Amino acid sequence: MYLSVVIPCMNEEASIPGLVERLSKTIGPWKDQAEIILVDDGSTDSTWKAIEAAKKVCPQLVGLKLSANRGHQIALTAGLEAAQGDRIFMLDADLQDPPELLTDMMFMMDRGFDVVYGRRSERRGETMFKKATAHLFYRFLNAMSDVPIPRDTGDFRLVNRRSLDAVLAMPEKARFIRGMFAWAGFKQVGIEYIRAPRELGETKYPFRAMMRFAIDAMTAFSTKPLRLATRLAFVSLLMAALMAVYVIYSLVVYQTAPGWASVVLAVSFFSGAQLLTLGIMGEYIGRLYVEAKNRPLYFVSEEVRDVAPVTQRLRA
Ligand code: UDP
Ligand code: MG
Repeated sequence: MYLSVVIPCMNEEASIPGLVERLSKTIGPWKDQAEIILVDDGSTDSTWKAIEAAKKVCPQLVGLKLSANRGHQIALTAGLEAAQGDRIFMLDADLQDPPELLTDMMFMMDRGFDVVYGRRSERRGETMFKKATAHLFYRFLNAMSDVPIPRDTGDFRLVNRRSLDAVLAMPEKARFIRGMFAWAGFKQVGIEYIRAPRELGETKYPFRAMMRFAIDAMTAFSTKPLRLATRLAFVSLLMAALMAVYVIYSLVVYQTAPGWASVVLAVSFFSGAQLLTLGIMGEYIGRLYVEAKNRPLYFVSEEVRDVAPVTQRLRA
């Protein structure tokens, strides 16, 4: 059994030495049959240097440097595509998710599960705002989504080759990886753990990135927002019909032109509904555009690894 560990890193120079040290301990039992893939997602600090330095103390390390910043989910995809393992373990560079959980995850996988994901029972050291938005996000996503996506889980998980191949066979450019694994199906199980605070560096998910991530997730896994637009249109039509009755009634009974209140009400309501509908359609059209362009997701500009990938070795 060959194990691949995949970690996306963006401006994580401070975290890498500790990360590699702790990981090499964790993967001890699989040492000769493992690779640790660090993907440098266009960092602007010396993350790549830290990866090269870590390579000297950790021979299993594979470093991939993307030609520019492509975002967490794409950096992760790059690592997953490079992974040679029969089992693939994903985590963040900041050690918020304890690598030691790998042992438990392996245990569950030995019992026949294809995907073992970590479920955060508690998040330490994160702002109230982050906790609240994350809580709302996972609930709203499930209300909207056509596929049930496990709540309070991240990409921290162990997956086997067949579930990874299923995800890699999905050609979409907007990648919401945890949702793609959920959609792929197979046997899945969650393990609860406490999410530690980030020790070094700072979060790469400011509010804007979180919003983008949430909208990507929503549009990638559901067409319900589009239907919502239709429903909203029905509601506004109904409102308009009621309004018409009221207008005619007041015209006949009071012989007055309807007051500005109803006009303002109507104008604001309908323009709101129209903008919302347009916005929702725009989100999907934008995504169609990106998919239609069909650009490669990323380019690897530099690589450190000392052995040929397993598949090549086997072929040779
Ligand atoms: N990350 C990345 N590219 C980005 C943003 C983040 O590769 O554009 C990586 C980052 O280095 C980390 C992981 O994605 O390993 C998760 O990011 P972070 O810990 O900042 O997110 P949070 O835990 O705060 O949600
Ligand atoms: Mg983090």
